[in-house]
Amino acid sequence: MTDPRPSSAVMDVDHLDELLRQCVQCGLCLPHCATWLATGNEVQSPRGRLLLLGELIRPSDTNTAAASDAFLQAFDQCIGCRACETACPSGVPFTLLEYGQLRATEVPPLRSGLPVPAVPGAVLRRMDQTAFLGFLSRVGDLVRGVLTVVAGKTWRRRLAGGPAGTGRLVRLLGSLPTSARSDTELVKMLDGLCGRETQLVGGSPNFVGLEIPDHLPSGPGVAFFRGCANAGLLPGTSRRLRDLLSASGCRLEEPGSQDCCGALATHTGRPGRAADLRRRNREAFAGALTDGTVIVAEAAGCSHELKEYGDDFRTGVVDAVVMLAGLDLPPMGSVPLKVAYHDPCHARHGQGIIDEPRKLLAAIGGLEIVEPAEPEVCCGSGGAWGLRYPELSDELGRRKAADLAATGADLVVTSNPGCLGQIADGLQVIAPDLPILPLTDLLWYAALLRIDSSRP
Ligand code: SF4
Ligand code: SF4
Repeated sequence: MTDPRPSSAVMDVDHLDELLRQCVQCGLCLPHCATWLATGNEVQSPRGRLLLLGELIRPSDTNTAAASDAFLQAFDQCIGCRACETACPSGVPFTLLEYGQLRATEVPPLRSGLPVPAVPGAVLRRMDQTAFLGFLSRVGDLVRGVLTVVAGKTWRRRLAGGPAGTGRLVRLLGSLPTSARSDTELVKMLDGLCGRETQLVGGSPNFVGLEIPDHLPSGPGVAFFRGCANAGLLPGTSRRLRDLLSASGCRLEEPGSQDCCGALATHTGRPGRAADLRRRNREAFAGALTDGTVIVAEAAGCSHELKEYGDDFRTGVVDAVVMLAGLDLPPMGSVPLKVAYHDPCHARHGQGIIDEPRKLLAAIGGLEIVEPAEPEVCCGSGGAWGLRYPELSDELGRRKAADLAATGADLVVTSNPGCLGQIADGLQVIAPDLPILPLTDLLWYAALLRIDSSRP
């Protein structure tokens, strides 16, 4: 099968020109664009980028080298969040911006004068490998623990204003996605927020999680796509999600030869590596696609990327949040908290997932959902983008954290590891007492409460 996303060279420029004429320059997309909100610069807005694209694909004597430099910068700085596509009343498709982004990633940063990532290339290349991410996560936990002892619980806020080099390192540390590794750690944290003390089975610290009922013969088969970030950085969360799916009657399988979805490789200008990963995943999930087993991806970024593999994956892949919203979940206990959900752009704009996470939260008794301002604006993570533009990413993360804190929430939840780390970092500076968790960890806790309270 032909690889669907090899390079910008295969995109039909005449067709792009036709799409470009759909833009009527109304500017309604601007207030939804994170880079325009952060910079106030028209060139860093969807409308400005489309104008530059027009100059590139309709060359003339007056728009040559200067337009080309401005073009590279504008498109390299586009996060790819798709908020402009959702907002546009004229239906201008993201395909246009994607073309510009591909053109920008095909030029090596050192040659183009674009910023190089804040981490060495050798490290960046390993950031789609589960084992390396697992190692990074352990080191991050260790260093964060030391900083907490030395500088106190608010170390991130206290070190936020350090010199540029230190600031970047501290930011990397603060934005490394993390959640409770053990169930007891998660229960203790959420019990603390709720002001209760859940009695685990026999008070045992080795509590093993949800009870999995015998599978119903009618339960759906699920091929689980774990994703490199979830498997490496959030192994406890990933296992709890699998428990939740099983406790909801799913028959789970996990193809062993699966690999990273390839999103990071694409966004760091490594199309060969991305194509190789797509090929491996195609082979790993060929059986599931043939027999109609649904492929469930844990992270919104992965489900979105997998759907770009082609029509078979577009229909065969379901985001975990959507899957859970369609299942008979185990009964939920009461969680008397105000909770704000952050919509990952890969879910909200990439897949139109808006109602499902809210439906899941509404299933938890006693819980109040609060909505932040600008829910459609990107948090500024953008995977490798945040490593190339740390200052801009910082500003967007703090803007998002401030919006979430202004809701008066006790807890923030989300469903993509990049957003989880980015918002955790912003919250540690803006509102250090407001925690953030994966949505599925909260669901797991609510289901556990009900099971636990029903024990003799
Ligand atoms: S992309 Fe859409 S919303 Fe933005 S300026 Fe063009 S027509 Fe208006
Ligand atoms: S994809 Fe996001 S960052 Fe890029 S132009 Fe659209 S709204 Fe702005």
